[in-house]
Amino acid sequence: MAAAARAGRAGPSIPDDRPVNVVDEFAADVAACRRCVEAPAGKPLPHEPRPVLRIGRGTARLVIAGQAPGVRVHASGKPFDDPSGVRLRGWLGLDDAMFYDDSRVAIVPMGFCFPGLDPKGSDLPPRPECAAAWHTRLFDLLPRPTLLVGLGRHAQAWHLRRLGRPDLLAPTLDGTVANWRAILDATDLMPLPHPSWRNSGWLKRNPWFEAEVLPVLRERVALAVSGREGRP
Ligand code: SF4
Repeated sequence: MAAAARAGRAGPSIPDDRPVNVVDEFAADVAACRRCVEAPAGKPLPHEPRPVLRIGRGTARLVIAGQAPGVRVHASGKPFDDPSGVRLRGWLGLDDAMFYDDSRVAIVPMGFCFPGLDPKGSDLPPRPECAAAWHTRLFDLLPRPTLLVGLGRHAQAWHLRRLGRPDLLAPTLDGTVANWRAILDATDLMPLPHPSWRNSGWLKRNPWFEAEVLPVLRERVALAVSGREGRP
């Protein structure tokens, strides 16, 4: 499985000049995944799967848990290679080189493949098959993140459940983000809105987000990518 996946499929790239470890095996298995085409929970994925995630050798202590690739990232195969990524890197205080250093930053969306568009042209939600198939296995492999950035409700709900604190998820995304300090203190998860430009209105209506959340976020990100343990 691993060697075949290395040889021919798009997705997480795995150099062949080093020993395979369990994280490499995981990445190879994901790269070969066709679950949403061959055994979908509902309508099949309307295109060939192209999982887009970055986990490196499983050493990153900063984890970005997003939703799913959009159409542009589906084409490029590079996560957050779009205006949302530009905004996200600004929020995190990371340049491109650090953001894409997979020894320090893991990028793990709730759906690894672009899920397609709804009739209005908006991205569909992440495929539910993906978290069910892959996420528990992956997060059992990875070290506990120093900081987990949860972008949007799907990621926040799944990770707060996994961390044993589903009670911290508010009925709305606004409520969960507004409760960021308690969530961060209890779980090392920072809940954020998706950095999509569609959320520009939300950011304007909530100036406390830039004034209060982003300085703390950048401090915690700097600690996580430094590899040091603990809290500032
Ligand atoms: S979205 Fe996830 S489960 Fe579905 S085909 Fe892609 S990798 Fe497999």
